Amino acid sequence: MNKGLFHLSGISSIALHAADNNNAEFAHITPIFATSTFTFDTAEQGMERFAGSDKSRIYSRWGNPTFTAAEKTIAALEAFGLTDKTGNSLQLKAILHSSGQAAMTTLFLSTLQSGDAVLSHYSLYGGTHELLHKVLAENNINVIIADLRDLHTVKEIVSKNNAIKLIHIETPANPTIQCVDIEAVTNIAKEKNILVSVDNTFATPYLQQPFKYNVDFVFHSTTKFLNGHGTAIGGVLLGKDIELMNTKVWKWHVLLGGNSNPFDAFLLSNGLKTLELRMQRHCSNAAIVANYLAQHPAVEKVNYTGLTSHPDYAISKKQMKHPGAVMSFELKGGLDSGKKFINKLQMCVRAISLGTVDTLISHPASMSHKGVSKEEREKFGITDGLIRLSVGIENIEDIINDFEQALQ
Ligand SMILES: *Cc1c(COP(=O)(O)O)cnc(C)c1O
Repeated sequence: MNKGLFHLSGISSIALHAADNNNAEFAHITPIFATSTFTFDTAEQGMERFAGSDKSRIYSRWGNPTFTAAEKTIAALEAFGLTDKTGNSLQLKAILHSSGQAAMTTLFLSTLQSGDAVLSHYSLYGGTHELLHKVLAENNINVIIADLRDLHTVKEIVSKNNAIKLIHIETPANPTIQCVDIEAVTNIAKEKNILVSVDNTFATPYLQQPFKYNVDFVFHSTTKFLNGHGTAIGGVLLGKDIELMNTKVWKWHVLLGGNSNPFDAFLLSNGLKTLELRMQRHCSNAAIVANYLAQHPAVEKVNYTGLTSHPDYAISKKQMKHPGAVMSFELKGGLDSGKKFINKLQMCVRAISLGTVDTLISHPASMSHKGVSKEEREKFGITDGLIRLSVGIENIEDIINDFEQALQ
């Protein structure tokens, strides 16, 4: 473990060494602490733990050493190289949840109450869209959706609505790979003391660190690239206001009961170790696949921000190290050709989700965005023929060969 003598210089070192692994048995790898509760030696010790004077564990819904290992690693990755207002290394608090949806619920419910409004944009993850429109809207929280790439509109909406307490950005967004300028929107929000949260699931801290632009919260579905192997569902919420994270946000998390479990947290920690290596391969493969699709005569359109044809090419270049490994595309024959293509694939996997080591293909209109009406979907580019692709780390020749035979 790094004792603070020198600063670790890269994210693989951080991913491998940021979590403290002190344990009584000197296990090299953080153990799976499969325990619901933690013992007290005496009644007095129990009382001290509840009073907070003894910081040891009490109960796993409130935290567990296996969760903490993953939380510390993700916090260190999101804060890597960043400083706070006073020039010190940025400190972040991460809270691991049972799923991305649970982490998003904690985020929304701990920052918004009845009568407040939240501003977000088109083309969100299907579950986020439904949580906003079904759960929040039913509880008297006003959901305002706009194109947040249009900064004049953002300014106008924010100046007219004092009820807005949170701006939630997903960038790149699902599945059109739309990008929002995090810095520009956060600057507008900060003038009115509005909180900003960023769903960083598609980018991962390897490609994009939203805290660099002074946002308040970062969210991940750890189910995707952070776990990387498709072995567990999970979510994490990170915040830079440690006091707020330790009080209201933690309280809401604990009371809503969205805690992770030791086995899934262990799988996540294991996956995180190879984040940089995996992302490098995911990204280089994706660039080749996107260029291949863009020049293929059977392809109508490719949504990938590494192509200058994408409207958010410049924003993506500004705030991301690389365009990432998720893209979507449409074939010339629309839905019918799309279905034929998907059915002919021999190696790439037909499944929803993304960010796993193998290449996954899905059909948003009938799968991830089935809960969003056709009219709504089409407004933000999720047409019936759109295919989403999460490019894996297979040998690139095999991905291209599979596409080549399926496109014939
Ligand atoms: C998957 C996903 C979520 C939801 O996370 P779960 O782990 O499935 O609950 C939220 N946002 C994005 C961008 C996602 O891809």
